[in-house]
Amino acid sequence: ATEAEEKDLVIIGGGVAGYVAAIKAGQAGLKVACIEKRGALGGTCLNVGCIPSKSLLNNSHLYHTILHDTKNRGIEVGDVKLNLEQMMKAKETSVSGLTKGIEFLFKKNNVEYIRGTGAFADEHTVAVNLIDGGETSVRGKNIIIATGSEATPFPGLSIDEKRVVTSTGAIALKEVPKKMVVIGGGIIGLEMGSVWSRLGAEVTVVEFLGQIGGPGMDAEISKMTQKILQKQGMKFKLNTKVTKGDDSGDTIKISVEAAKGGKEETLDADVVLVAIGRRPYTAGLGVENIGIETDERGRLVIDQEYRTKLPHIRVIGDCTFGPMLAHKAEEEAVAAVEFITKNYGHVNYNAIPSVMYTHPEVAWVGQTEAEVKNSGVKYNVGSFPFSANSRAKTNLDTDGIVKFIADAETDRILGIHIVGPNAGEMIAEGTLALEYGASSEDVARTSHAHPTLA
Ligand code: FAD
Ligand code: NAD
Repeated sequence: ATEAEEKDLVIIGGGVAGYVAAIKAGQAGLKVACIEKRGALGGTCLNVGCIPSKSLLNNSHLYHTILHDTKNRGIEVGDVKLNLEQMMKAKETSVSGLTKGIEFLFKKNNVEYIRGTGAFADEHTVAVNLIDGGETSVRGKNIIIATGSEATPFPGLSIDEKRVVTSTGAIALKEVPKKMVVIGGGIIGLEMGSVWSRLGAEVTVVEFLGQIGGPGMDAEISKMTQKILQKQGMKFKLNTKVTKGDDSGDTIKISVEAAKGGKEETLDADVVLVAIGRRPYTAGLGVENIGIETDERGRLVIDQEYRTKLPHIRVIGDCTFGPMLAHKAEEEAVAAVEFITKNYGHVNYNAIPSVMYTHPEVAWVGQTEAEVKNSGVKYNVGSFPFSANSRAKTNLDTDGIVKFIADAETDRILGIHIVGPNAGEMIAEGTLALEYGASSEDVARTSHAHPTLA
């Protein structure tokens, strides 16, 4: 065999974590290669996650608004029709523009893009099974694993991405289902449930816990969000577990019962969306052969500098600890490359915002009220409804509140939670406030233009 070429840094995975690390390393002058098996850069986020889902959320919201919310605004429209094929094309245009943009950035920053599946041959060598046929291998002084995550399957239901779908099938349905059952009322369930509900499906969300929104959403905000989504037509079954599914007939039968035991009920569905969380993806990587550990949830174990037991191999993004968010992956990519090039790097995990892109959006940063209460810190809560905000009033879009939690003694902000129009943009200010250690008075004394939602 020929000697494998040696790079300063080899990255396995070309998702947000991997491509940001690759570009940063290229900019820092490292000789870098990035291996991606999908055939396109951008990972889950650009290809089947953040970007396509936001395209569908935006356009389905427009459609729904035009259909149901124009008359009272003095706009008479007739003959509104859904062209789902075109809506999907619009989505694909956004996706392909962005993924090609990354290929361009790779070229510009001297990143070698290797199209194929990587697996550890030894501690410094990654063997690659090339998409276009054949094999190669590449040696890295440093290696970053950024292989991301995959949907957690639901036992007993086999995913075909047509009738029983994960988010990947849910962003590509060929027609609007009459009835959709969503298993899991987390972010994916509520975002994709919203899309298909707006386009005409009858959507029922089955959630095991007593609240929707997944981990991290403040309980008060979650309750309010549920009410708003119910007003829009979504149905919820909380504290409910799915016991079995049967997809042998024309309609899929989903059996559910109260989480604590109780009467069984059967829900009919044309499409079932399984959205019970995602799990790290490391299949075929061969980490076990070189002694890299995973924890009980399959996450690759690292220290504070993203190092595995083998210090030249680092891990970032969805396949290790922390929230599975694109901007978290991106921050870790920058920090990991800085550890390699400068010996220091930093991510403030207390100030990573979360946004759910329903309408209204839900956004938060910092701790929930329950977390603050459990920590034993004395705190104050202040909240303000959009129904009393002048811009929300002019926009006839007044559902939601802003909630601040601050330390009772120092007034330092501990958490900000918003459900309301444009919450996802507004939370940037909250994140900055948290990052700078602001008090709630600092924010109150900052001039905000009138009339704005901010
Ligand atoms: P990934 O993006 O999963 O990238 C990993 C890449 O590695 C993949 O392309 C994979 O093909 C490749 N790979 C894996 N193994 C190998 C191998 N052995 N060899 C070569 N390549 C390999 N986050 C947000 O912040 N905001 C959102 O709005 C948002 N929306 C989402 C919507 C959906 C429907 C989903 C599913 C996720 C969403 N997320 C969102 C989460 C976000 O997509 C992830 O947090 C992000 O993609 C993580 O980036 P990553 O690089 O760690 O992993
Ligand atoms: P999630 O963890 O947000 O929610 C999963 C939900 O399913 C939870 O509420 C959980 O209680 C419930 N659940 C688990 N098992 C269940 C069962 N057997 N029956 C019924 N309910 C069950 O996970 P997700 O919505 O699948 O999203 C996966 C990841 O993708 C998340 O980490 C999320 O951060 C990320 N994501 C982010 C965005 C965004 O930032 N806007 C969008 C989509 C996805």
